[in-house]
Amino acid sequence: MPSLSDQMSDFAPNKRIWVLDRGHGVDTPGKRSPDGSLREWEFNHDVRKRLAAYLDINQIPYIFTVTDEKDMSLRERTNIENKLAEMGYQTCFLSIHANAFGSGEWNDARGIETYSYPKARESKSMSKIFLNYLIKETGLLDRGAKEADFHVLRETKGNAVLTENGFMTNREEAELLKSDEFREKVARAHARAICKIEGIGFTDKKQDEGKPMMDWKTEAIQWLLDQKIITDPKWLEKKDEDVPMWAVAIMLRRVMEGMKNEQ
Ligand SMILES: [Zn+2]
Repeated sequence: MPSLSDQMSDFAPNKRIWVLDRGHGVDTPGKRSPDGSLREWEFNHDVRKRLAAYLDINQIPYIFTVTDEKDMSLRERTNIENKLAEMGYQTCFLSIHANAFGSGEWNDARGIETYSYPKARESKSMSKIFLNYLIKETGLLDRGAKEADFHVLRETKGNAVLTENGFMTNREEAELLKSDEFREKVARAHARAICKIEGIGFTDKKQDEGKPMMDWKTEAIQWLLDQKIITDPKWLEKKDEDVPMWAVAIMLRRVMEGMKNEQ
């Protein structure tokens, strides 16, 4: 019988787990367009959902940090990534945002920029890959792959990239940020970048509609049940639903306790 940690690595052999963060809650103050018609939360949340659909099709493992409409402290978000890293997983923390400039008025700042932590070489090269695909896909102004001392870039143990996908404070870009078409492009660009980083060919869901999908999600949840990390089989019907923080905490505790008992 292999140890629990060995079995966990079977879940995603040699694969990086993408920790998808969408920053800000629905009520986070300030994070909206000058006319109040767009909240940053709405855009980030929707793009992450669309990205997750692409990752499902391309069979790339990911988890979400924030799971509902509420805000969550930066510390709690990076703790999730830290736990995975401590368990021996390779990780990349990806935080998706819309940008803002000035003090709440419309202005001309525009374009897309991506961020990594200063001198984090591998994250920087990932950041450039995201930027390239985002510019190619959306045609917006290239503001560069920048470096910044942000909490989510600094306090993550694995790689970390933050993307700013257009300005809510620019009238034209705010309209784009509201549109389905643009959100889909942004999500697809992120997915293409991730496939590039993982060295696999990108599969676009549009071309693949109708093909039966391998149900790796059910398999993954069944494994959690078999290991008694979760106990309620109802989770099998909630494959795509957000998991509340308390449930993540309970699962992690069961894993840690299981590892301790095997020593
Ligand atoms: Zn933001």
